[in-house]
Amino acid sequence: MSGGMNGKPKRVPVLKKSECSRCHAPFVAGQTCIEIPQVGLGYSTGKRVCDECFQGILKKTWDDLEVIKVI
Ligand SMILES: [Zn+2]
Repeated sequence: MSGGMNGKPKRVPVLKKSECSRCHAPFVAGQTCIEIPQVGLGYSTGKRVCDECFQGILKKTWDDLEVIKVI
C-alpha cells in the first residue's frame, strides 16, 4: 500500500488546534475529524472537515449519484 491515487476520506485524530475547512468550527486536540484528500494537488495535505460537514458532503455526493442514476 503506497499513498497514491484514489485517496479516500479517513477519520484522523486532531493533534493540534485547527478548524474545519468548510464551516470553520474549531477542532481541539484529542477529538477526531475527517480528512479528505485533495485530488490534483502535489501535496498530501487533505482538507479537514468536521463530522457534520462530512455528512453534508456525503449527502451531496449521494444526490449527485441519484442524478446520474436517473440518466
Ligand atoms: Zn464543519
